[in-house]
Amino acid sequence: MNTCEVLIVGGGPGGSSCAWKLRQAGVDAVVMDAAVFPRDKVCAGWITPQAVSALQLDIAEYRDGRTLQDVTGFRTGVIGGHLTRTTTYNRVVSYAVRLCEFDHYLLERSRARLILGSPVTTIRREGAGWVVNEALRASMLIGAGGHFCPVARWLNQPAATPRDAPLVVAQEAEFLADSTPADAEAAEIPALYFYRDLKGYGWCVRKGQYVNVGVGRLDPRALPAVFARFLDFLRGTSSCPPLGNPRWRGHAYLVRHARQRRVLDGGVLLLGDAAGLAYPQSGEGIRPAIESGLLAASTIIDAKGHYDRDSLEPYAARLTDRFGDGSTEVEWPSLVPARVRSALAPLMLSLPFVARRIVLDRWFLRASELPLDLALRRAG
Ligand SMILES: Cc1cc2nc3c(=O)[nH]c(=O)nc-3n(C[C@H](O)[C@H](O)[C@H](O)COP(=O)(O)OP(=O)(O)OC[C@H]3O[C@@H](n4cnc5c(N)ncnc54)[C@H](O)[C@@H]3O)c2cc1C
Repeated sequence: MNTCEVLIVGGGPGGSSCAWKLRQAGVDAVVMDAAVFPRDKVCAGWITPQAVSALQLDIAEYRDGRTLQDVTGFRTGVIGGHLTRTTTYNRVVSYAVRLCEFDHYLLERSRARLILGSPVTTIRREGAGWVVNEALRASMLIGAGGHFCPVARWLNQPAATPRDAPLVVAQEAEFLADSTPADAEAAEIPALYFYRDLKGYGWCVRKGQYVNVGVGRLDPRALPAVFARFLDFLRGTSSCPPLGNPRWRGHAYLVRHARQRRVLDGGVLLLGDAAGLAYPQSGEGIRPAIESGLLAASTIIDAKGHYDRDSLEPYAARLTDRFGDGSTEVEWPSLVPARVRSALAPLMLSLPFVARRIVLDRWFLRASELPLDLALRRAG
């Protein structure tokens, strides 16, 4: 039987970031993933500067042979509305990447031992450690397998996702844009079109030769209908290339909320989507996955081989320090009655102050938050 110190289940941005930091500290880490990389992933691929900073990503090196689109502005509006506001910045405020490239790059960079094309099917305790798939023994187990992570299910029996949990349901496609839309200049600027109830939004994001189109909603009812309505609307705009007939793919994931999943026990930690950490207003999950991966690795390094519950408990406090306790994310959409919200949404979103300061700076870019590496350095 194979052995390792730390087994990370899932090689997405969360798992690979954790592995990267562990390997830097000389910890023997294995990443096991059901997929063979590079693999396709349902995700729009929008990343923020905080994520880039936490990863110490060399932008010039990454760009060499991969797609990385600088984002210096956004277009915002309401689905079905006539007004689209363009907000620009005098600096790069985000990037758009292709997840198949990004995740592969991070996984290779981690220098962890990789076991790919191997879904985790069985998990059992053996003494203070773990046996996975009856083939691999580990002292410490990390659940980084996304929303349906088998470690999260094991740790949160009987139900990893309570019925009323705030679940983002999403559908998207990424395809080569083989013709230029009428308004080619606008097409370069990512568009965010909100549902009138502000429970979600659709996007159209250009990344080099590719376009990613999709919707995400915090309300799972009637997704096919609202998705179809969004596509009809998009086809009527001048900035979206012909949609053709791409393969639309769906996925779901939890946002951080007050009754979050149990994220640790003796010898086990969850991170990223497995822990349900995405931001509720934007659905951004890549940065929380990366940051929680780094925080999980620090906790393991600090534990110096003692993986009992008490030694791992600081991880929960680190998540709360960084992402809040899930109860403070109430914003005006949930405070204003639904009917008033729907009536006011087009007007509110057309106001420059609301578009820039609330929607973009506060909800999407979380501009007041320092990157994790700087925040930790400041905290000493
Ligand atoms: C349509 C859509 C658009 C999105 N757009 C954005 C965006 O633009 N920006 C953003 O920040 N966030 C976005 N998100 C959210 C983001 O994709 C996730 O939050 C993020 O990828 C989570 O990373 P992770 O490492 O936790 O998990 P994942 O990236 O999901 O990685 C989990 C890995 O675990 C593996 N795995 C799963 N089960 C098993 C198993 N049984 N055994 C072994 N391996 C397993 C999978 O193969 C996968 O490689 C989007 C999500 C969706 C659905």
